[in-house]
Amino acid sequence: MDEPTNEPRPADSRPPLVAAHTNLTPPQKAWSAYTVHALACRVCCDVDAGACGTAGELHQAWVVASQAAFRRLAGETA
Ligand SMILES: [Zn+2]
Repeated sequence: MDEPTNEPRPADSRPPLVAAHTNLTPPQKAWSAYTVHALACRVCCDVDAGACGTAGELHQAWVVASQAAFRRLAGETA
């Protein structure tokens, strides 16, 4: 039996995500982009690597998309 190691797994060791990228709402698309990146990114997968700039940008895009969706639900225009 293999001993567990602290070695990071290669970024491409995970199985491909099975997700339908069609008919998703803008917040869902933004969250999908964030999670797909985070699961494949070496920086995001390494707890000691610090913050990932790309993940930060994708997360911010999700926040913006979600806020716009809430504004639409609230009936705001503009
Ligand atoms: Zn990343």
